[in-house]
Amino acid sequence: MTVQGLAASRIWVAGHRGMVGGAVARRLEAEGCKVIRAGRDVVDLVNQRAVNVWLAETRPDAIVLAAAKVGGIQANDTRPVDFLYENLMIEANIIHAAHECDVERLLFLGSSCIYPKMAPQPIPEDSLLTGPLESTNEWYAIAKIAGIKLVQAHRKQYGRKWISAMPTNLYGPGDNYDLQSSHVLPALLRKFHEAKVRGDKEVVVWGSGKPLREFLHCDDLADALVFLLQNYDDYEHINVGSGVEVSIRELAETIAEVVGYDAELVFDDSKPDGTPRKLMDSSRLHALGWNNIRSLKDGIRSTYEEVLKNGF
Ligand code: GDP
Repeated sequence: MTVQGLAASRIWVAGHRGMVGGAVARRLEAEGCKVIRAGRDVVDLVNQRAVNVWLAETRPDAIVLAAAKVGGIQANDTRPVDFLYENLMIEANIIHAAHECDVERLLFLGSSCIYPKMAPQPIPEDSLLTGPLESTNEWYAIAKIAGIKLVQAHRKQYGRKWISAMPTNLYGPGDNYDLQSSHVLPALLRKFHEAKVRGDKEVVVWGSGKPLREFLHCDDLADALVFLLQNYDDYEHINVGSGVEVSIRELAETIAEVVGYDAELVFDDSKPDGTPRKLMDSSRLHALGWNNIRSLKDGIRSTYEEVLKNGF
C-alpha cells in the first residue's frame, strides 16, 4: 500500500479501546485515514460468527489487529485459560474473516514474549521457536506465535500482503494501572505516586530488581506501525523496540525522579522475576529508516502528566 493509498484507506483498528489500539487509531487519523472502531457491544471478537458477519458488512481496506487479552506477569501466570483461549479466538476469527472478505492489508501485533526464555540478546526475529518459552507467559506467547503463523500461512497459501510486528514492553496513555494485573512500568508509576500522596517511606518492587527490560512509548509504536504499513511487506515478523534497556531497579529510580519522591525500594522476592533479559534486536526496522524514539524519562514524564490530569 502506498502512502497515498494509506491516507485514503478505511482501516479497522481492532482493539481501539486498548493502549496500543488507541494510539494506532490516533496516529492513523493524523495520517488522513478513516478509522473504523467497533466496541464489544458491536462485535464480540471471540465469537466467530459475529466477526464474520460484521466484517462482511464493514469491508475495511486494512486491519490493524491490536485486540488482545493482555496483562502483566501475575495475570499471565494465574489466568492461563483466559490468555491462551481468548487470544487464539480473537486472532483466528479476525484473520479468517479478513481472508473471506479479501482485506488487502493486515498488520498483526504480537509481543516480545514470543521468544525463547534464553534467546540471544538482543533478540533477533529468527530466534522464534528455537527454545523453551518463559513459563510465566507461555500461554500468551503460544497464542501470539499461532497468530504470526496464521498470517504467514495466508501469505504462503494465498499471497496475502499481510505482516506481523512484535513490539517490546509498552507504556503510555490508556495503560492498565491495576496493581494486580498491570505491567511493571504503570505499576511502579502508581506505587510511587500513591507513596508520595500518603507519605510512605517504602515502595515495594516485585522480584529482585535485576531483570532487564526495554520500554517503548505506545505513540512511538503507533508511528512505527504506520511506517511499516507504508514500507514493509515481508513474510518474516519484524521487531519494534527502542533499543534501550534498563534494570527494574533503574526503572524504579527513574520513576521516583519523575514523580519527585525518594522512597526506599523494598524488593519482594516472593514475586517472580520472569525472564532475566528481554531486549529486542530492532536493527531490521531501523535499517528500513524508522528511528523515531523518545527517551524513557521523557516518555514517563508525559505519561505521568496524563495520569495526573485524568487519574489512574
Ligand atoms: P514481563 O516483562 O512479562 O516479565 O512483565 P511485567 O512488566 O509484569 O514484569 C517485569 C518485571 O518487573 C518482573 O521482573 C517483575 O517481577 C518486576 N516488577 C517489579 N515490580 C512490579 C510490579 O509492581 N508489578 C509488575 N507487574 N511487575 C513488577
